[in-house]
Amino acid sequence: MAICDRCNGEIATGEGYAVYSTSPISLDSGGKEIGAMLFCDKCANDLFTENVWKEAKDLTESARREITRITVLAEPDIFGRLNALTSLTQKMHDFSIAMGAKRRGLGPNEARQEAREISQLWWKDRKAAENLLLQNVRGKKRWRFWK
Ligand SMILES: [Zn+2]
Repeated sequence: MAICDRCNGEIATGEGYAVYSTSPISLDSGGKEIGAMLFCDKCANDLFTENVWKEAKDLTESARREITRITVLAEPDIFGRLNALTSLTQKMHDFSIAMGAKRRGLGPNEARQEAREISQLWWKDRKAAENLLLQNVRGKKRWRFWK
């Protein structure tokens, strides 16, 4: 069993989708990335869509800050702000994951298939899966299970 890195939901052993987010850990992380994440089915359904692929864009640090500030301040109370921050964080991960895939010419379905395949490696050797995800994002080595 594992916990989904996006919604904290449960992922049964051998399931899930391994992805890589270049989104920063926090606004004050100095650009340190979240990195490898394991998503549940529900989050994969949110992420791997034509819409996310269409909307996704690279955000600069200052754009991120500004979007966060506007989104959070639009909420009248602390609970609204926390919820807004959570869904915004998820959206930023989705965008960053989609951008990484788009740069390699992968559509949502191909990216979903790849994330599923890499999750199989994740359960056997998490470190190897993380290295693979990193290589894919950095473009040092183009790697695919299906050929
Ligand atoms: Zn999830």
